[in-house]
Amino acid sequence: MALLKKILDLIYPPQEYCYNCSKRIDYSELNHLCVTCLKKIDFIEEFCEKCGRELADGEEICAGCLATEPVYSLARSIAVYEGIFRDLIIKYKYTGKKELYRPFSHLMLPYFNLYFKEKGIDYIIPIPLHQNREKKRGFNQVGLMAGELTQLTGIPLLAGLVRVKDSPPLYNLSTEERLRVITGCFNIVANANLRDKTILLVDDILTTGTTVNEASAVLLNQGKARAVYVLTLVSI
Ligand SMILES: [Zn+2]
Ligand SMILES: [Zn+2]
Repeated sequence: MALLKKILDLIYPPQEYCYNCSKRIDYSELNHLCVTCLKKIDFIEEFCEKCGRELADGEEICAGCLATEPVYSLARSIAVYEGIFRDLIIKYKYTGKKELYRPFSHLMLPYFNLYFKEKGIDYIIPIPLHQNREKKRGFNQVGLMAGELTQLTGIPLLAGLVRVKDSPPLYNLSTEERLRVITGCFNIVANANLRDKTILLVDDILTTGTTVNEASAVLLNQGKARAVYVLTLVSI
């Protein structure tokens, strides 16, 4: 068996295993994910018109957006944070499966084409990590996906935002606490000219939307951007 495995490794290089189910990949246009696993992904089709969160049939705007309308123009995410996607994102962020940025951004592309291609986007801007966290993780998971999306769309990448305050995870905080923690987290980087530009913000997970909303507010108010759109990999 050891010899057979060596021979198989020559035919299928070792990286050609599915990162989800560990089976060898015979054919997949997306590196690191097999077709069986791709078919299990719960892509979002019914969503809040504003924030892109999955909604029950018939609803158009979610309760969150009705209560406080986000300042960005439109947000979309491609899948719900559960099942395979949840497992893969955990592998991506915490177990060094850095290469997953490629299939992730390739999966984002159809959503980009559907919702943002005609919006006249000038720059793709990733939500930045605080430098302490980036140093700890060794890479910025959002920056990698945004970079690949730049390659796929031809729209320039701009590291236009900097995170000046490190914030704890927001998911177990109340709405008021989230706002308090996130306010003042972002600044526009010196010499980034965003005036009248249309921006696509990229993030990995949209939970409450507080983070992308704060970043959008900074881009619009400080940067004088014309409009901000948001594309995230998943939403909760
Ligand atoms: Zn698989
Ligand atoms: Zn909404």
